[in-house]
Amino acid sequence: MPTINPNFANEIIKFGAKDFNLCFNCGNCTAICSLSTNDETFPRELIRYSTLGLEDELKSSLKPWLCYYCGECSTHCPRQANPGELMMSLRRWLTAQYDWTGLSGLLYKNLWAYILAMITVLGATIGLSYFSGYS
Ligand code: SF4
Ligand code: SF4
Repeated sequence: MPTINPNFANEIIKFGAKDFNLCFNCGNCTAICSLSTNDETFPRELIRYSTLGLEDELKSSLKPWLCYYCGECSTHCPRQANPGELMMSLRRWLTAQYDWTGLSGLLYKNLWAYILAMITVLGATIGLSYFSGYS
């Protein structure tokens, strides 16, 4: 029996997904995506899982990693539901699920944490190159 997370839509929006709830299941994205087959309704299946909040199915799926973000599905979506962006957001969300430190989720969801991390890495790189005699 699949479990449903009624807050999943709110959660995935924090990872960059936009308007995927506008999907009315027409199938245009599946028709245009080169990764879909007669047996795989890619990416529509993942959109359906996301709108229904079927978190366990999404966690156990490797399909979001197949998408190469060409954007064709989003271009041909009559509802501007941005299925391509949802695929990228699912990848970010999955990365955060795998990461036991919680750091990647923080960086994806919080712009200031991301900027601070970038400044820290830049400072560390400059400092390291200076003390190593490369500057
Ligand atoms: S093309 Fe858009 S509306 Fe149609 S199934 Fe795909 S995401 Fe949903
Ligand atoms: S962005 Fe991904 S899901 Fe959409 S058409 Fe391209 S490969 Fe398929």
